Amino acid sequence: MSRNAVKDHLDRLADEGRTVTFWLRDDDAVTPTPALDRLLMLTSAHEVPLTLAVIPEETGEALARRLASVPLARVAVHGWSHRSYAVPPAKKQELGLDRPLESVTDELQAGFEKLRELYPAQFLPMLVPPWNRIAPAIVDRLPAIGFTSLSVFGREKSAPLALLNTHVDIMDWHGSHGGKPAEALFAELLSYLAGEEPMRPIGILTHHLVHDAAAWDFLEQLFALTASHPACRWRHSAEILSA
Ligand SMILES: [Zn+2]
Repeated sequence: MSRNAVKDHLDRLADEGRTVTFWLRDDDAVTPTPALDRLLMLTSAHEVPLTLAVIPEETGEALARRLASVPLARVAVHGWSHRSYAVPPAKKQELGLDRPLESVTDELQAGFEKLRELYPAQFLPMLVPPWNRIAPAIVDRLPAIGFTSLSVFGREKSAPLALLNTHVDIMDWHGSHGGKPAEALFAELLSYLAGEEPMRPIGILTHHLVHDAAAWDFLEQLFALTASHPACRWRHSAEILSA
């Protein structure tokens, strides 16, 4: 059982006086919904801080008012419109070179400023590219817009600004379109826990708007196992980046 193997690994780390850092990124928020309420209740019940990647174009005061009472929530910039400009069969991408670079950077600037104004206390100058894809030429422009960090999916590579990635995506986008089986997710988690020395922060990626029962159930299991485990620290992305 992968879940038990994760628990055994964490117990061993605790015995050795070691800790592993987790962070949670949830994508695509625009407006308050019952699914968002469920995510906020679940994370606050376990005191897990979360970074919401908000799509700037259509969002507004309603989401800002909902999140104002959630001290554990921070807001990052999720592109501008979450529209793909890639020409099939290329994979979906908003932040590619399929249109003039200036069009892309102007929109990112608008998104940065809109969310900074909506979230004076909770804004993070972090870009989360839609579909976790961004052209290197656009990455090079991010510091000039004001971004100090970037978050995509997979192991961190070098970049001209701080990178804090997600590593375990709980959704099965290509198969069931629901949550991946919990055993498979615990196995992925174990490969990160056991794989690298020194251990880097592990990012968990969620999409509350499309969670099915399996996705919610895995999150519940993950938080139950880790939130108060002596070897685990759930931390804010900003706190990890400033360390
Ligand atoms: Zn997205």
